[in-house]
Amino acid sequence: MNQRVLSERARRVIPGGVNSGQRNVPGLGDLVIAQASGARFRDRDGREYVDYHAAFGPPLLGHNDPDVSAAVAEAGRTVDLCGVGVTEDEVELAEALTELVPSVEQVLLTSTGSEATFHALRVARAATGRRLVVKFQGCYHGWHDAVSLNVISAPDRVGGKDPISAGILPEVLDATLVLPFNSADAVRQAFAEHGADIAAVIVEPVPHNVGCLLPEQEFLRTLREECTRAGSVLVFDEVITGFRHHLGGWQAISGITPDLTTLGKAIANGYPVGALGGRADLMDLFSSRPGGPAFFAGTYNGHPAVVAAALATLRKLRSEPVHEHVFRLGERIRTGLAEVFSSLGVASLVTGYGSVFVEYFMDGPARTYDDLLRNDASMFIGYRRRLLDHGIFELPLNLKRSHVSYAHTDADVDHLLEAAALAAGAQLATGAELDLSGASTMGGAR
Ligand code: PMP
Repeated sequence: MNQRVLSERARRVIPGGVNSGQRNVPGLGDLVIAQASGARFRDRDGREYVDYHAAFGPPLLGHNDPDVSAAVAEAGRTVDLCGVGVTEDEVELAEALTELVPSVEQVLLTSTGSEATFHALRVARAATGRRLVVKFQGCYHGWHDAVSLNVISAPDRVGGKDPISAGILPEVLDATLVLPFNSADAVRQAFAEHGADIAAVIVEPVPHNVGCLLPEQEFLRTLREECTRAGSVLVFDEVITGFRHHLGGWQAISGITPDLTTLGKAIANGYPVGALGGRADLMDLFSSRPGGPAFFAGTYNGHPAVVAAALATLRKLRSEPVHEHVFRLGERIRTGLAEVFSSLGVASLVTGYGSVFVEYFMDGPARTYDDLLRNDASMFIGYRRRLLDHGIFELPLNLKRSHVSYAHTDADVDHLLEAAALAAGAQLATGAELDLSGASTMGGAR
């Protein structure tokens, strides 16, 4: 059955035809994935793509890494979810996370990143007895209500006026303040006005949900200082940065240690694992009596198959030159793309970190979300749509980042750079003809 027929069947029984909001990509409504391996996936009609979208970030080792797959299969032969007690692998994984991530003294496993950020905010409120949460423009922390302000919400649109979804109580959104990223002054001012009521500050240390904004040290230091002074809980949401940028996350790179850390994505190379870790006195609130004072639960938490995937992923990240490889290819891509766009005379800012790259079509630099408003969305999306014709998949949605994995090769990078020149050249020549309707929404993020 070809993919047009299959995707029509999907739309009849799955709302929007896909199982997550931003898999619904304009122009790709008929895409049916048939096979994935290493740096590539193939669609149902037999077209193969070199995959830089990487499922929004998990497969740092590449799709279906054989060592990870073998560990999952072995877990399936020996143990199963029993819903009581703990397995040896769960203990080993928790010990590994406490060793690797500076802030993590104790850790709990979830199935997703959203659950981890949800529980981080819950325990921060439980610990402080306070109401407010501070988040930053451009950061995404999952689908739950407290953080469901549109990633582009401006500070003056706080208070439920700009939610990512219908169906959220305005009073929940009222308890979330949105500040501009990289503004130490805005942080100081928010603490001066509301400090005694701020339970938590949650931040993506690198807001990759709008591509890549690199954090200024002074900004991160100010978060740490103000939270410490006011007795608020600082949460680094390292769902993307954790393991991908460093085994200890951005906190190991920056030397700034939060109170709580949320993890996910690259931790298990694509298997559903999230984690919430941090200061033992905070984490202990989940255990000081059965079910409380902070409640934490989940039928699938610590499932043996996904824990085995996480252990196998971490083992490989520690024993093979994964970071060296993906950082080198990432740098080749950033440098190469900047040269390609400059030789075509198109304004571009090619940025990223390590294995992550993003090509904005604008003059640099970009410090805050507002700077990204200069990006030419139609060039960004049109360029990426044209890359598809060359067998390259970067998600054709505005401001999305791209990722390199351990399975990508120098030949893949050569291919990308050749295709980039052709795709950007063609888009510059005929860009206005593309229908970009719906493809430049920046409301959601993954
Ligand atoms: N935090 C960040 C920084 C994320 O990027 C995401 C998902 N992209 C989440 C939290 C939510 O994770 P999940 O989709 O696994 O619930």
